[in-house]
Amino acid sequence: MDVVDESAMTNEAAFARACLSLVGGVNSPVRSFNSVGGVPFFVREGHGSYVIDVEGRRYLDYIQSYGAIIHGHGDPRISSAIEEAARKGTTFGAPTLGEVMLAEQIKAKVPGVELVRLTSSGTEATMTALRLARGATGRSKIIKFEGCYHGHSDALLAASGSGVASLGLPASVGVTPAAVHDTVVLPYNEVPQIGEDVAAVIVEPVAANMGLVPPEPAFLSQLRALTTQAGALLIFDEVITGFRVADGGASTLFGITPDLWCFGKVIGGGLPVGALAGREELMVQLAPTGPVYQAGTLSGNPLATAAGVVALEQLSLSSYRKLTGRAEQLSLGLTKVIQEADLAVQVQRVNSLLGIFFADEPVTNYRQAVASVERGIYPYFFHAMLRRGVALAPGPYEILFPGLAHSVDDIDKTIDIASAAAVEARDLWHRTGRG
Ligand SMILES: *Cc1c(COP(=O)(O)O)cnc(C)c1O
Repeated sequence: MDVVDESAMTNEAAFARACLSLVGGVNSPVRSFNSVGGVPFFVREGHGSYVIDVEGRRYLDYIQSYGAIIHGHGDPRISSAIEEAARKGTTFGAPTLGEVMLAEQIKAKVPGVELVRLTSSGTEATMTALRLARGATGRSKIIKFEGCYHGHSDALLAASGSGVASLGLPASVGVTPAAVHDTVVLPYNEVPQIGEDVAAVIVEPVAANMGLVPPEPAFLSQLRALTTQAGALLIFDEVITGFRVADGGASTLFGITPDLWCFGKVIGGGLPVGALAGREELMVQLAPTGPVYQAGTLSGNPLATAAGVVALEQLSLSSYRKLTGRAEQLSLGLTKVIQEADLAVQVQRVNSLLGIFFADEPVTNYRQAVASVERGIYPYFFHAMLRRGVALAPGPYEILFPGLAHSVDDIDKTIDIASAAAVEARDLWHRTGRG
């Protein structure tokens, strides 16, 4: 193995080397710079609100592992919990108390959750939610909403946002018509008709993978009422909103109790964890107590549960007040300075979640999100910010994740930088003749 001298390493060299052994140089397409152009920075380490790349450049980081990090990078409480767990062995294939503790935390924080199944990713949680819904109802159809991302399982890849949208794909090649035959895709924020053949409606209660699109006031309550009426299940995909948008997530924020919840990201404290949760009567239909099969060699992994338990334990009501305060400061500041640069902007926010649309009007669905993205301003803004030391996600459909490590000064600095970046982005964009 060759020794890498990190002091001499450049992002270009790292990326060129990565491309020789990893597809496209990355292990998840959202990390590539395909939709903004250029070469990704390779992270050497992260501390709090910052990451440092292999060239030694520091960036104020709003990616925060797409929401898996809420306490900031390298949180010492989480890192020592992982170290302590690692000294005792990394995986056993027998149950551990860490799994129980993480499930207990989820139950304690989310009213309505009675039983939990831990997985290793959000994708596994949503995949299992569909299987359980179909098993429990004996029905086949699933309703999902355009621009909502529910992981990369075949049946849910139809018209999803996030990386699929950034790559300009309606869905993925390799997903057969049969695999999505029972997936009905409808516009977000429009209350659907729910037939007697529908097993479940799955929704991001706050859409956060087509930029940030809040639910309209009656949307979620109507979904709740209509699914109940039709005998279908309501699945809240809270992989992003869970333990982030509010204490107890979106279901407590909006006062709407779904039948099943999917969690991920925050609940792993930066390690791979997902969870499916719900009422006992439904959850017991999973194996080993019921006939709906689901499994995972590393599900409830001791390192991951150790990290997750500490991450959740450290979240209190005051954490959410702080998060929301930071996000509000950021959204007001960004709106002001981007407007001052004569660019139409909508910084859309629900508590601590926010996203930037370069658009004249508020964005309420995927079609409008695409129209805003197609104006083509984001890549210029992204690079103008990155050059000045602020890392946004390298894709226009991703949101910003201000976390508990972002200080008021961090946010002020971000807004100052955005002021210059918006002017530069506007000028470069105008030069393309599109503005
Ligand atoms: C990230 C995400 C997923 C998928 O989770 P993975 O851990 O990446 O598999 C599912 N749903 C939503 C809403 C997400 O944001």
